[in-house]
Amino acid sequence: QPLVGNLIGEDHVNYVLMYNMLTGIRVGVSRCQAKVKRPLTEEDFTARHKFSFDIVGNELTPSAKYDFKFKDYAPWVFRTLREDHFQIDPADYLLSLTAKYILSELGSPGKSGSFFYFSRDYRFIIKTIRHAEHKFLLSILKQYYTHVQENPHTLLSRFYGLHRVKLPRGRKIHFVIMNNLFPPHKDIHETFDLKGSTVGREYPEEKAAKNPRAVLKDNNWINRGKKLEIGPEKRALLTEQLRRDSEFLERISVMDYSLLVGIHNLKRGNRDNVRRNTLKVFSPELPGSMRHSIKQVKHGSQSPEAVAMRRAMRSSDPKRLGTPSVGGQDDGSSFHLPEEDERRQQCLFYQDEGGLRATDESDLPMGGTIYYLGVIDILTPYTFVKKLEHYWKGMKDDIHKISPVPPTEYAERFFSFMKAIMRGGGGMERFKSE
Ligand code: ATP
Ligand code: CA
Ligand code: CA
Repeated sequence: QPLVGNLIGEDHVNYVLMYNMLTGIRVGVSRCQAKVKRPLTEEDFTARHKFSFDIVGNELTPSAKYDFKFKDYAPWVFRTLREDHFQIDPADYLLSLTAKYILSELGSPGKSGSFFYFSRDYRFIIKTIRHAEHKFLLSILKQYYTHVQENPHTLLSRFYGLHRVKLPRGRKIHFVIMNNLFPPHKDIHETFDLKGSTVGREYPEEKAAKNPRAVLKDNNWINRGKKLEIGPEKRALLTEQLRRDSEFLERISVMDYSLLVGIHNLKRGNRDNVRRNTLKVFSPELPGSMRHSIKQVKHGSQSPEAVAMRRAMRSSDPKRLGTPSVGGQDDGSSFHLPEEDERRQQCLFYQDEGGLRATDESDLPMGGTIYYLGVIDILTPYTFVKKLEHYWKGMKDDIHKISPVPPTEYAERFFSFMKAIMRGGGGMERFKSE
């Protein structure tokens, strides 16, 4: 079930965890944010900040309702990513994640057992990740950073923070904060999770008819005869960006990632109110001091923290739009994506109400469709277990169509499939079953 969650109240099993996550983020992020911005150093990529919370509090951490430890990984790297590359307003970030309303929980939509939580305004997602994924993200953080820097229009998951909560009995929970690809104020009428694998990649159509929120898969896309309706200009840009992103994923040797596609139909509009009706008011007991300090930043306090934060906000001047330089055909060879100088501009594919408007062959808007696209679940290396799965599943089914294949093959197949799903892009035959 995409994007519909249960609000977490004090009686919820994960209330304490949630409270600790939010308190940790709030203290960790505002601590880093209070300092004057500086260029990143090599050490920033391996830095960790530890916080110890208890009900008494001390000069470093305000008192909290529970005892727990919080670890903030590479805080400066994530701050720089948020502000310089992903155009996140620092005060908004803190407010979204920690102000008045607590998050809603999506439960565990995937097979992995990860939990997903939305910020109260649905802009951000917290995903709990396994220790292996956590270690992996840290190990490729530098490469990820460089990729994002060189590719302002990347479709890869936008990681805004990496943290750990340790509960008194020693349980450690790792989590990332990332972008919600889907917009807070629009219904998504169809959702697809596409890999380019076609074995077991089908959501039963009978069930889909009854559940408009189902996450459909590759075979549903093929059998429904769907196409991404985008004109030559954006098609070329999207193809080029997907090529770069899949090359990156190949380089870091991961697999099992997907292109998440959300389709909003403007004619149907938002009458289903998919998300808004789940967003009921809930006001948890957050430490008053923190609520106060967020308010100060917003409302012009002269405290050093607030001044620094406002300065940070100004320096990350968002949304300056330039015109992309596009020329040539859509074979992805004779044009370039706008880069460096236009670094601060909003991602090309998130420009039309947070997504990408369908366009005809003359690049004019058509059909009242907006697509929301992104590459998700990118932290799965091709490990021993995945190799076993590869051979095991390969005995039963076509070894090139199963989900677990080596990273090079995965990336090539993924990219080919993504070209094939676009209008005018050929090559779908290979993915159809005989
Ligand atoms: P598995 O490893 O079994 O595939 P997972 O727990 O790693 O599952 P993901 O594949 O990351 O989970 O995500 C599961 C579903 O959650 C996606 O198919 C999508 O519907 C939703 N989802 C994940 N990330 C996002 C995002 N950034 N924006 C919106 N929806 C998302
Ligand atoms: Ca997945
Ligand atoms: Ca996963």
